Amino acid sequence: MIVPLSQPDVTKKEFNILKKVMKSNVLSIGPYLENFEDKIAKYIGVKHAIAVNSGTSGLHLLIRAFGISQGDQVITTPFSFVASTNCILYEGATPVFVDICPDTLNIDIDKIEEKINEKTKAILPVDVFGHPLDMARIMDIAKKHNIKVIEDSCEALGSEYDRIKTGSIADGSVFAFYPNKQITTGEGGVIVTNHDYISELCKSMRNQGRGTSNLWLHHERLGYNYRMNEFNAALGCAQIDRLDEILNKRMLVANKYCENLKAVKGIKTPFISPNVTNMSWFVYVIQLEPHINRDNLMKYLIDNGIQCKPYFTPIHLQPYITKLFGFKEGDFPITESVSQSTLALPFFNNIKKKQINYVVESLIKGIEVFSG
Ligand SMILES: *Cc1c(COP(=O)(O)O)cnc(C)c1O
Repeated sequence: MIVPLSQPDVTKKEFNILKKVMKSNVLSIGPYLENFEDKIAKYIGVKHAIAVNSGTSGLHLLIRAFGISQGDQVITTPFSFVASTNCILYEGATPVFVDICPDTLNIDIDKIEEKINEKTKAILPVDVFGHPLDMARIMDIAKKHNIKVIEDSCEALGSEYDRIKTGSIADGSVFAFYPNKQITTGEGGVIVTNHDYISELCKSMRNQGRGTSNLWLHHERLGYNYRMNEFNAALGCAQIDRLDEILNKRMLVANKYCENLKAVKGIKTPFISPNVTNMSWFVYVIQLEPHINRDNLMKYLIDNGIQCKPYFTPIHLQPYITKLFGFKEGDFPITESVSQSTLALPFFNNIKKKQINYVVESLIKGIEVFSG
């Protein structure tokens, strides 16, 4: 049996809406873009949504919009997908890493304040694997020090902490729509913010720095082509209309894994804080106890048709980052030990019961073989 790690969930609705785009003759800068942005803004409960061609583009535009540049520092987490650090590097600013909580795997909020100094311009926390951050606390710290917060919610559309939705209270936040995310646009992302000025700036910069004058070849600032086209936006419209259904399906899959795995010795199933009032599952990542050789177990599962991956490799130990900043093993011990023990299991909306059972059985067999 082959079980992929991830698989998008597209229905007739998605096919039909894409046909409509093709027949409309408007393939970019059209009605679906605005429609998608309206739906996102309404769902999150923010004033503005600005759709872009990737989550990374969205993070980059926010870094620029807040004027973060060379000499500035941004506090972030080393346990993430590299995009959350790369966006800081694009502008020549310096990422300042803070280690994570071993349970939520999100940045340890208790350790943020000690890293703030006169160069700190922003905090860029990440809702890792969909587990929402305690954003109210992060916003309090940022306000006290008069710095900005950019929330990387790329993995957490729909999650809530103490009834606060991810992306809803930071100065600017980003969701992403690569095919393995909760909903997909193929490639794509969206910036959400309540600041009018930040919204205007991001809209201008995604469109080659054009102003709001509608003069096509009038450019007011350095911009990019980070536009989301109508196919991507239309796909997003069809997907977000199904968001409740999709998140529910994912929850059922996660629950099934949790049930089947909670009694298995040697593994830790994902932790969900009691403050989480809604969990939007991005991936299903287990942690293995140190006596189990993760890499051998992973190879065994892959050989048996089960796609699985270590999530994540610490950002501070990526070769180009160590070259830039000289980090070494041991600098962020919790991130490092978690990284060595994680295993993302096949996880997608329409995974079949027998596929889940096969993954669980194979995992149990593999653990027996590879326990030291
Ligand atoms: C997916 C993701 C992004 C954005 O990725 P893109 O491929 O550029 O859309 C950013 N940060 C995190 C943590 C992500 O998981």
